[in-house]
Amino acid sequence: MKIISYNAKNFRQIEYMKMLPESVKQEIEIVAKVLPFKANNYVIDYLIDWSNYETDPCYILTFPNRHMLPEEDYNKVKWAVEKGLPEHEITKIANEIRLSLNPHPAQQQSNIPQLNGTPLPGVQHKYRDIALFFPTQGQTCHANCTFCFRWPQFVKDLDLQFSMKEIDQVCEYFKQHEHLHELLFTGGDPMIMSPRTISKYIDTIFKADLKNLTTIRFGTKSLTWWPFVFLPQYNDEAQEMLDLFKRIVDKGIHLSIMAHFNHYQEMSNSAVAEAIENIRATGAEIRTQSPLLNNINASADIWAKMWDQQVNMGMVPYYMFIERETGPYEYFQVPLAKAYEIYTDAIRVTSSLAKTVTAPSMSAAKGKAQVMGIIENPLNGEKYFQIQYIRHRDYNQSYKPFLMHYDEKATWIDQLKPVELQLQNQ
Ligand SMILES: *Cc1c(COP(=O)(O)O)cnc(C)c1O
Ligand code: SF4
Repeated sequence: MKIISYNAKNFRQIEYMKMLPESVKQEIEIVAKVLPFKANNYVIDYLIDWSNYETDPCYILTFPNRHMLPEEDYNKVKWAVEKGLPEHEITKIANEIRLSLNPHPAQQQSNIPQLNGTPLPGVQHKYRDIALFFPTQGQTCHANCTFCFRWPQFVKDLDLQFSMKEIDQVCEYFKQHEHLHELLFTGGDPMIMSPRTISKYIDTIFKADLKNLTTIRFGTKSLTWWPFVFLPQYNDEAQEMLDLFKRIVDKGIHLSIMAHFNHYQEMSNSAVAEAIENIRATGAEIRTQSPLLNNINASADIWAKMWDQQVNMGMVPYYMFIERETGPYEYFQVPLAKAYEIYTDAIRVTSSLAKTVTAPSMSAAKGKAQVMGIIENPLNGEKYFQIQYIRHRDYNQSYKPFLMHYDEKATWIDQLKPVELQLQNQ
């Protein structure tokens, strides 16, 4: 198999796209001025069911459509394109729209730590025991998912990127923070880096001999979106990547691949099955996490099937996320009440081994807020959400359930009314 990546610039060359109606191609071109768009031939040839592309989850995950932008913004860009405005003026319009799409939800930028008084811009340290590292070369992906909250990182002309080159500073930071145990390589997708580049980071970490580092995680969508990263018969570098995993495990460090999933359709071919086997043979484990997305996976059947299949293939279901309020979230968002219903309907019918998954959570400013339940007061019929932070900036505040007033339409914690506040107002 030949491995080629495609991007928005040459999308007209993709065979399958020739069959898309002109109007759809034009829509893609217009939305792609604002939201990053990139596809690869694996997703196009093996994951998308083209006979039904309009409702196909992998198609919707890859190809933007006009409903992903507010109507007014879409029309503004359409006007500019049709009028033939010069590229820099279209970019200016696009940048204005991008900034209005909440590019930094949950104040991610406030999690940037300091080392000896200087900010470490490629690191986020929000929870006491784990730091996120955004290696410079890992800030793109094998494809850009339409729902992605990292989208500002893929838009090169906006100066909003987190990243840094120096892993040395990360090591120093670990030495100064004894409660840190885990380092999570994230991006973008760190598995877009060559194994040689990742090895340089890992070797520096090994050399630093960090006594408190017990776990390394890689967050990645490559397992299902570009499985060749782990398939030596198709990719010269894959064996090196697998060997690197083994080296980390042999050092006594727990290695967890945090695999991003959206739909069971992503597991439907043998390339993924083989990639999973190869990773597990290194001693690494695979945990799966997925956001709940309208138009992609908003049904209990899809989740139950996905989790069961993940367990059958040797993976551990881990997180179900509520879609963050950024980019085209209005197209993808699912109300919290509906999310909880989908979660419970799905988890009830899965094997117990799939019940490792945590009920839906929102990565909010204070931490990961989980929807634990919907409770009805039998005396007056009043309904509440039961919420807890499973992760909180201040770990003392985690695992303390509290009630918020039920709101059928709310899609994020900041839309819920706290119970105490209302009592005070009465
Ligand atoms: C989710 C998240 C983590 C990882 O949290 P776990 O619960 O350990 O998986 C770390 N840092 C930030 C900022 C996060 O949002
Ligand atoms: S692979 Fe992950 S980081 Fe990359 S575009 Fe998709 S959701 Fe975003």
